[in-house]
Amino acid sequence: CGITGYLGFREAYPIVINGLQRLEYRGYDSAGIVLTSSENKLKLFKTKGKVSDLKKIAKKNNTNGHLALGHTRWATHGVPNNVNSHPHISNTGNLVIVHNGIIENYDTIKKELIKRGYTFSSDTDTEVLINLIEEVQLKNNCKLGKAVQLALTNVVGAYAIAVYDVNNPNEIIVARLGSPLAIGIGDDNKEFFVASDASPFIEYTKDAIYLDDEELAIIKLGKSIRIRKINDDSFVEPNIQELKLNLEQ
Ligand code: GLU
Repeated sequence: CGITGYLGFREAYPIVINGLQRLEYRGYDSAGIVLTSSENKLKLFKTKGKVSDLKKIAKKNNTNGHLALGHTRWATHGVPNNVNSHPHISNTGNLVIVHNGIIENYDTIKKELIKRGYTFSSDTDTEVLINLIEEVQLKNNCKLGKAVQLALTNVVGAYAIAVYDVNNPNEIIVARLGSPLAIGIGDDNKEFFVASDASPFIEYTKDAIYLDDEELAIIKLGKSIRIRKINDDSFVEPNIQELKLNLEQ
């Protein structure tokens, strides 16, 4: 399973689709991509099967957008099918998520959210998490980064996640606990890449941050990355490493 994403000035689709193909070695049963452009808030394509099947579906559509998240799924909660494939969308339609890992206490959280009027279209633990983030944000009237952080303090499990708000397509929030997550940083913070490993972005930038467990990163166009600890609110100085990989070797 794998995650990849792009935020910047280039067309996101080819970068994220190629990135998903590079992550195929990690194993998966389904694939999906969400794209956001200024004219079109949300384009979502997902399917059981291979990245090549996803490409066939997306090819028939407009895939413009400078922000995208892609996912390959290894099902843990809910059978492999189109609806359970990622990305998942919150009830308002504003928040999108891709997730690798398991939310162990999803059932308790889901029951609580259903009491508050939330509905679910998939059987995944991931759809529960994005709606928990939405509920926390609406209740606290806070920024997305804070909402993700607060939601994650209620979660038992393992995750690498990437989340964005379709109404604020200049920002991606990522976090990890037990699943890998790398961030690639373009010149002058004009573009960013996120992925389970650096292979999807190695030809675009050599500057990368590997998140540690229990860290959350706020990735904003034109700004330096901010990293916080999920559980104690403290900031962590980003450790930008120079990638040594070379695809030509
Ligand atoms: N637990 C999530 C699901 O079943 C994510 C699985 C994964 O790591 O791909 O959808």
